[in-house]
Amino acid sequence: MNIKTFHKATDLKDAHTMLQASKDNVLLGGGTWLKMTSRQIENAIDLSALGLEKITETDEEIIIGAMTTLNQYKNHQAIKDIGDGILTAAVSTILGDAFRNIATIGGSIAGRFAFSDVITSLLVFDVTLVFYPEQKMTLETFLSVRKDTGILTEIRIRKEQTRGFFYKVGQTSNDFSTINVAITRTKGKTNIVIGARPAIAARAVSAMAMIEGIPCPDDETITKVSEEAVRSLGFADNHQASKAYRESLAMTYVRRGLKEVYGHDC
Ligand SMILES: Cc1cc2nc3c(=O)[nH]c(=O)nc-3n(C[C@H](O)[C@H](O)[C@H](O)COP(=O)(O)OP(=O)(O)OC[C@H]3O[C@@H](n4cnc5c(N)ncnc54)[C@H](O)[C@@H]3O)c2cc1C
Repeated sequence: MNIKTFHKATDLKDAHTMLQASKDNVLLGGGTWLKMTSRQIENAIDLSALGLEKITETDEEIIIGAMTTLNQYKNHQAIKDIGDGILTAAVSTILGDAFRNIATIGGSIAGRFAFSDVITSLLVFDVTLVFYPEQKMTLETFLSVRKDTGILTEIRIRKEQTRGFFYKVGQTSNDFSTINVAITRTKGKTNIVIGARPAIAARAVSAMAMIEGIPCPDDETITKVSEEAVRSLGFADNHQASKAYRESLAMTYVRRGLKEVYGHDC
């Protein structure tokens, strides 16, 4: 990354006007990913003065400002409390405190990184993203659209009584995911998400439908649902792992995750 000019935005309108002015003007989160790229940036737009670095709660939602660092997010009680703490667990796997004090939740989502542990763990919850200019969409919709969505300002997580499971397989403790799996179970619904396949996280919709309404699935059902989750989502080879190895890991961890989220009550 090479930055010509640094622009500290005074409000969202100012930031957006600057963003629209040139394709070489770029929004800065923590800059941790951009720093690794060879981008030539005309104006780096700093969002740090816009009050977007806080987490608030209502009875229904946890509302996270896009400039909240990964460590603020990881250490917040509301994030620890939801889904057996899987959001905290997922972020804890990303390098160390020094890095997480810089990287932001907004940059982690806006980057649409296929290896992302943040996205996989959030996709099993009911998550709405808020953008400037005014636009709202679910995290799942955001991952499927390729168009410019403007400035991500808030991530809203609906509070629910949820059992949760998250697991990341990496070759070393600081490595990117070879595969990551997240599962939640609320009263009526089980969500299964597999990421880093190496494609970006996606919900295993047909597998989720198979287990819906079954209060205590037996071992055979759990195996069939896990097989369907793996069958329905595409896996591929890359430098980290083969397609077959990834499928085998995914099968193992979806099975373990389902046993864990149902095990409490069955
Ligand atoms: C060495 C290394 C290892 C890593 N390992 C992992 C890992 O194991 N698991 C994992 O999940 N992640 C991992 N990451 C990714 C890390 O979490 C990202 O660097 C981080 O998510 C990016 O956050 P940032 O705030 O620094 O974003 P930036 O680098 O500032 O920005 C990333 C992108 O998002 C855009 N952007 C930023 N903020 C906004 C906004 N508010 N609205 C719209 N667009 C915006 C930027 O323009 C840019 O395109 C790793 C990164 C590095 C460098």
